[in-house]
Amino acid sequence: MPLFETSAPLAGLRGELRAAVERVLDSERYILGPEVEAFEREFAAYCGAEQAIGVANGTEAITIALRAMGVGPGDEVVVPSFTFYASAEAIPPTGARPVFCDIDPETYCVTPETVRAALTPRTKAVIAVHLFGNVAPVAEIEKLGVQVLEDAAQAAGSTSAQGRPGSLGTAATFSFFPSKNLGAFGDGGMITTRDAEVAERVRMLRFHGSRDKVDFELVGYNSRLDELQAAILRVQLPHLDSMADGRRRAGEHYRQAGMGAYASLPQPTAGSAPAWHLYVIGHDRVGDVEAALKQAGIGHKPYYRTPVHRQQAMREWGQSIELPGTEQAAARHLAIPMSPILSREQVDEVVAAIATV
Ligand SMILES: *Cc1c(COP(=O)(O)O)cnc(C)c1O
Repeated sequence: MPLFETSAPLAGLRGELRAAVERVLDSERYILGPEVEAFEREFAAYCGAEQAIGVANGTEAITIALRAMGVGPGDEVVVPSFTFYASAEAIPPTGARPVFCDIDPETYCVTPETVRAALTPRTKAVIAVHLFGNVAPVAEIEKLGVQVLEDAAQAAGSTSAQGRPGSLGTAATFSFFPSKNLGAFGDGGMITTRDAEVAERVRMLRFHGSRDKVDFELVGYNSRLDELQAAILRVQLPHLDSMADGRRRAGEHYRQAGMGAYASLPQPTAGSAPAWHLYVIGHDRVGDVEAALKQAGIGHKPYYRTPVHRQQAMREWGQSIELPGTEQAAARHLAIPMSPILSREQVDEVVAAIATV
């Protein structure tokens, strides 16, 4: 049983996807054309954001969004250490320094308390990662008086009482890496924002810091979403909610199948309905769980065994910090099969394998 599925959930869309590719080939518009413009409008409407701006990937999306929010040399950006490395990697290119904060190991997300402990007078922004599809408490963090960038790379399709990821902070970033909840057939990313000035700066930064490729006002990037990827994503967006429901249903299967008796289940944050990107359990003898799943031929993976602040590339910023929730999650977590089409029978098989540990 695979850990996740990328092509099988799209089987019913093959014809539409082919037609979308043909449409772009016929149009001879490949960069910043009608498909990207339409997808930006459709994605902004889906999220409930004022604007959406397509970029090349979810990592550059973070760097560009931070710069558009005014982050630069001398500033600090608070970021959790238990996340995909790119959440923090995207900070130094702005000139700011990453300041690592802890998470709640039950939700895998930052909390107002873990963020508050990392704030200083130099803090310019907080990156709230909606990890594994769970939704970090953005409004409560904003109450600390700091602007929030949502890293929503794993949370397309999730919802919360305050709204969807992409509409909660000053700005938000998404990745369309093929295995994400909304995946392109290559790299792609998006920045959403409610702030018209941030949107304007993002549009310039992704386009060499220019409005017209004649006058260059900022040192920017060449970071665009391709027409081809936008056309492919437009076919999938109307189905994102039903795919997300499939992920929620699979999470419910795990609960109903009794997985909670054998491992700690991921806890949705208050008011959220996560579209689980990865379904991540916790176990004190996680090595034994890995061995049992391997024996049963069931996909599994520890994603972040070494938290970001202890990665070699972060040694300048990650030394001598104590993050107990992060260390606990890093040591105990394990992703087990999750997809929009994971059945109750498959879930029963996974639970039976883990019950032997
Ligand atoms: C995937 C991911 C990114 C980076 O996205 P890319 O498109 O691969 O650059 C950033 N943050 C998180 C939490 C991710 O999961």
